[in-house]
Amino acid sequence: MNHFEKYCTKFVQSVGSKDGAVSPTLTNSASFAYVTPEIAEGIFDGSVKKPLYSRMGNPTTSKLESILADMDGGVGAVATSSGMAATTLATMSIVSAGDEIISVGGLFGGTYALFSETLSRFGVKTTFFDVDELKNIQEAITENTKIIFLESVGNPNMRLPDIRAIANIAKESGVALIVDNTITPLIVSPLELGADIVVYSTTKIISGNSSALGGCVVFRAIEDGEDKFKTPRYKDLEKIIKKAGKIALIPIAKKRALRDFGMSANAHASYQTMLGLETLALRLPRIVNSVEFLAKELTKQGVKVNHPCLETHPHHQRYLTDFKYGCGTLLTIDMGTKEKAYHFLNATKIATITANIGDSRTLALHMASTIYSDFDDETKKFLGITEGLLRISIGLENPEDILEDFLNAAK
Ligand SMILES: *Cc1c(COP(=O)(O)O)cnc(C)c1O
Repeated sequence: MNHFEKYCTKFVQSVGSKDGAVSPTLTNSASFAYVTPEIAEGIFDGSVKKPLYSRMGNPTTSKLESILADMDGGVGAVATSSGMAATTLATMSIVSAGDEIISVGGLFGGTYALFSETLSRFGVKTTFFDVDELKNIQEAITENTKIIFLESVGNPNMRLPDIRAIANIAKESGVALIVDNTITPLIVSPLELGADIVVYSTTKIISGNSSALGGCVVFRAIEDGEDKFKTPRYKDLEKIIKKAGKIALIPIAKKRALRDFGMSANAHASYQTMLGLETLALRLPRIVNSVEFLAKELTKQGVKVNHPCLETHPHHQRYLTDFKYGCGTLLTIDMGTKEKAYHFLNATKIATITANIGDSRTLALHMASTIYSDFDDETKKFLGITEGLLRISIGLENPEDILEDFLNAAK
């Protein structure tokens, strides 16, 4: 069976309902009435399972959360207002001033700025490593290290991590592993590979149509016996874990981040995200095939493409063994100079110039002059940003049409 088939059944069956309204019910209410003061008390102490206030949870958003938790085999999920909010929620609910984060691979510009600038203002220090620096990653772990953060595919450097090896380091040292799986939902199952928490920007391929900003964090269950979150490293989580048990990472996220920072998803975005999610398992394999076709054909025609399906890519073997279902919608093209990259963008008739990825349409962006324009030369070098670099996110168009258009634009 095609790897994506099981999700085709799961998504449409879980998004739609067989009782009453077939399309998910959109609960457009910020607050909820409690009927009696006794029920209000129960809702606040958790003994009555009814909505409290939409910052802490909304029925439409809960439906999205349960589908995404199920998709990744998690015990639960918390949806957020954006992908950056998901990363912020996942990290801020765990770290305090004086703690350290180890960031591996990638890195999405917003996440890099969050770690290097914003969290450092609050006394949280992040050290950045390439995916293959396993020894340095191991050696960098101290008693203050609370999180190893990893992107499933380097955006835009297209480097692929050995997720299992990094998860082993996290396991042996008892440090939480958070994987940003935005680019590879369904393709990579981080919890199965040993991650503790998965973050998504649902704005991208999960919604797939640029209609809703959103994010989601999926959590694994806390083990009954020993668990890394029960060790002295995570002492300040002890109380919630004792009280909540298996599902503790959910109240940890809600009480230590969502409640006070308020990065909550809005119901309308959750609704639209579910409409996109229904067809994710159809869109993704089609796009992955187009990406491979284009990477190979463009390379044959002399265009400088970066994608791990190419034999010349340093992680080609890892692509074949660990990324059997592809690595998402991205490839990059290095046009050599900014002028040539701009010429390409002005000449393409198919690509939409925008900062998004994972859309139904093919999208393109010049990296150095946009997302990375604020970054110094050394950081750009670390992140693989060259002057002529274009990030391309392939869409659902006929791949032959894209090829013809790109060959024309690259002239
Ligand atoms: C887009 C993106 C984010 C941030 O998501 P937003 O929804 O734009 O906040 C985080 N990580 C990756 C890998 C992304 O591509």
